Amino acid sequence: MTKNKMRGKMLLNKINEVREEVKKWRAEGLKVGLVPTMGALHEGHLSLIKKAKAECDKVVVSVFVNPIQFGPSEDFDKYPRTLEADTELCDGEKVDIVFAPSAQEMYGNNRLSNDTLTYIYPPYFFVDKLCGKSRVGHFDGVCTVVMKLFNIVQPDCAFFGQKDAQQVIIIKKMVNDLNVPIEIIQCPIVREESGLALSSRNKYLSEEGKKDALVLSQILNNIKACYKRGITDIEALKETAYSYLTEKHDMEYLEILNKNNLEEEKFADENSIALIACRVDGVRLIDNILFTEDENA
Ligand code: AMP
Repeated sequence: MTKNKMRGKMLLNKINEVREEVKKWRAEGLKVGLVPTMGALHEGHLSLIKKAKAECDKVVVSVFVNPIQFGPSEDFDKYPRTLEADTELCDGEKVDIVFAPSAQEMYGNNRLSNDTLTYIYPPYFFVDKLCGKSRVGHFDGVCTVVMKLFNIVQPDCAFFGQKDAQQVIIIKKMVNDLNVPIEIIQCPIVREESGLALSSRNKYLSEEGKKDALVLSQILNNIKACYKRGITDIEALKETAYSYLTEKHDMEYLEILNKNNLEEEKFADENSIALIACRVDGVRLIDNILFTEDENA
């Protein structure tokens, strides 16, 4: 058992230990918030943690690189793992528990496939587009682990970033469809001053790649600016992206959809969201922008 008490915070890696602590909080009538992460924490994660601290009495941050949400050719093995730095950052934010379980703790001896493990499958309509198209099975893995974390921690609220827009929409749908008594709180995207959305995967980018990656936010900002100037035809808005792209940009998708249900529309309105995925320097990056004034960071 790892149970390091550092200032107010505890690093726990066993499910029953987390349950025990949360049970005590519940008995005192305290409001509990959960911030699920895969670690390699940055200011984006910290913004979720700060919001959770502001809204809840106790905050649990989970740090778990979830094997079942990575495809066979994805970066599970090389995904950055920086637990010591993560716990220090959480300590700085006065997080109450950092829950960092092993894969064995989360999945036991199950073979990690759906012939032996119970999965949550989000609806096809929400999955068969955007990131779900190239990352087959990704959202099954996300929903499964998030539901497990919900059941382990049993928080009142859980905090997710707008950065992963499709993810938060799918989680809201799951919570709604399965009557999970947890409020999902969506937090704005935190960016570098340059406009680049913070991501643990930015660590893979070279200096030049980081500059090339600015194109994602530039395309999105320009699309929104064009919309604000009165262009609503979605095809026309999407076409404005091409002037930004060079041979260094391997575009996977650029879509403008309804932000609540991911439906395709012909004309953009205040409910629209523009979403982009593009490979730069071999690194797959995603970003998005809401068309409403006040909802972006
Ligand atoms: P991850 O560790 O990548 O699974 O992310 C954990 C949570 O942090 C998710 O809800 C993400 O959407 C959120 N997140 C990641 N990057 C950012 C960012 N730049 N701004 C706001 N939230 C973020």
